Amino acid sequence: MAGRHPRPALDRALNLIEKDKKSGCWLWLARVSSTGCPLIWSQTRGCDVSTARLFYEKHKEEIPKGMRLWHQCGNRRCVNPDHMVPLAAYMTLTKSLRSPSVQNTLKTHCPKGHPYSGDNLKFDKTGKNRLCRACRNERSRIAMRAKYVPVSERKESTEDS
Ligand SMILES: [Zn+2]
Ligand SMILES: [Zn+2]
Repeated sequence: MAGRHPRPALDRALNLIEKDKKSGCWLWLARVSSTGCPLIWSQTRGCDVSTARLFYEKHKEEIPKGMRLWHQCGNRRCVNPDHMVPLAAYMTLTKSLRSPSVQNTLKTHCPKGHPYSGDNLKFDKTGKNRLCRACRNERSRIAMRAKYVPVSERKESTEDS
């Protein structure tokens, strides 16, 4: 046993995922908890850690204590940090389940019915609010058109001196 340095959990974890091109999910191929949550042994912490958390903290930001990750793609085996949103601990969640912000987070589709997943999913600058790429593209198309239309209308109008 002496002299053997175990590889960090993150290194090992990278070899235990399969990236699904269609959904964008990173499917966990190794051990899961009794509730289906992907787990990996951390030598440094001396305990099992959540693989999803590990990736999220590596690629995004540290998750405050008491926060848990919500899978927006609905796939518990997925550990793609882009598919994860940190939510308050379960107790807080159930208490505030009816609040509009939580309801928003739980939604899997934008108001127009585009999915909040894969390539269509974007986050705002704070990284907390989800945006729909299809709707944003649509809005910018409308904004572009709006820029041109008033110009021609103004030309026809005689109010300008
Ligand atoms: Zn996913
Ligand atoms: Zn949309």
